[in-house]
Amino acid sequence: MRALELVGFDGPASLKLGERPEVEPGPGEARVRLRNTALNHLDVFITRGLPKRPLPAILGSDGAGTVDAVGEGVTHLKPGDEVVLYPIVSCGTCAACRAGQEVHCPKMAILGEHTDGTFQDQLVVPAAICHPKPSHLTWEETAALPLAWLTAWRLLFTRGQLKSSDWVVLVGIGGGVATACLLLGKAHGLHVIATSRDAAKRQRALDLGADAAFPSEAFSKSVQEATGGAGARAVVDTVGPATFDESIRSLAREGMLLTVGATSGPKLELLLPRMWFRHLSLVTSTMGNHSEFRSMLDDVNQHKLRPPVDRVFPLADGGAAFAHLEAGEQFGKVVLSA
Ligand SMILES: [Zn+2]
Repeated sequence: MRALELVGFDGPASLKLGERPEVEPGPGEARVRLRNTALNHLDVFITRGLPKRPLPAILGSDGAGTVDAVGEGVTHLKPGDEVVLYPIVSCGTCAACRAGQEVHCPKMAILGEHTDGTFQDQLVVPAAICHPKPSHLTWEETAALPLAWLTAWRLLFTRGQLKSSDWVVLVGIGGGVATACLLLGKAHGLHVIATSRDAAKRQRALDLGADAAFPSEAFSKSVQEATGGAGARAVVDTVGPATFDESIRSLAREGMLLTVGATSGPKLELLLPRMWFRHLSLVTSTMGNHSEFRSMLDDVNQHKLRPPVDRVFPLADGGAAFAHLEAGEQFGKVVLSA
């Protein structure tokens, strides 16, 4: 069976197609023949050694495919079932797991970051993380869901507690989390403003239902105008240092800066008085719990949401797919095809 292996930490050039033996599923496990997988910035960081994993490693957190074999004791799945994978494996027995808070499990592992991931033809996983594929989606769209849409769901609705008619700004629309926030936000009745340097991306955001889309340059002024001077309840900023100042200026009093990533770098200079005089909060999040994954899938099924797919590459051209994501020109997810 083929696997896209990371053999060094020099970015896309370190990805090579290799061969791995087929693995039999053990008790409680399922083997999934992967149809499509998708890239996340998490994968890109690992190709650059952040963090360094033992090599060779198989990356990939997102996976969709067909159950191929099941181990002993698995009753809710059978060969031929079409599934999408919850991207987290946890111990299942600690206090956090028992409380349904898998993100706080000390043994939590993200597929592809802590264990071998989905960039291969087949993967053996705990059967419990296999969920029915939404029937209205293509395989490519299904593979675009797991990590980005889970992260977006928890960020907006658990951590952010956003409610119908709240204003939210999505900074730098185009990435997986931001486009997921747009579609999930609209499904929940939020008013959504997108920003981008790129006019074509702004138009795509409007086509997907954004209430407004503004150029990145000094976008806080446009947000203040669009909200009648009140500012936004929340700003989702996945860019970081390059946009944080404008994001803070876009917020209403008691507004929240929601952050799940920082594509422009990890370090931030924060003017605290600007935060406290307007009672602002900085709310962070990453990934999500199993129950939140189910809620996200329920929303996708109920509202017939379709994740935008930017481009599909064959597994063998994984390096080119990574280079494409690193260039940052995408709108929606970069997907691999088995
Ligand atoms: Zn646990």
